[in-house]
Amino acid sequence: MTARTHRNLTGERFGRWTVIGRGETRDGKHFWRCRCDCGWEHGMVSTYALKSGMSRSCGCLRAEVRRRLMLAVHAQRRERGVA
Ligand SMILES: [Zn+2]
Repeated sequence: MTARTHRNLTGERFGRWTVIGRGETRDGKHFWRCRCDCGWEHGMVSTYALKSGMSRSCGCLRAEVRRRLMLAVHAQRRERGVA
């Protein structure tokens, strides 16, 4: 799928985001109103963030991944005494 940058993304899904409408345009960047699978809505997700996979959820996905990472990191830190 070859997509141009300024295409209308409404209705498309990116990770947990569903694009529900056009957001603002700032500094030549387009932002989209997105709804996350968890129900959270975000009004300003950039085209770039969506397409590059940089933003794939409201943060709940990242929080889940982080929680998993934190467990590992904490274990390591505890060993090194950094807490
Ligand atoms: Zn979410």
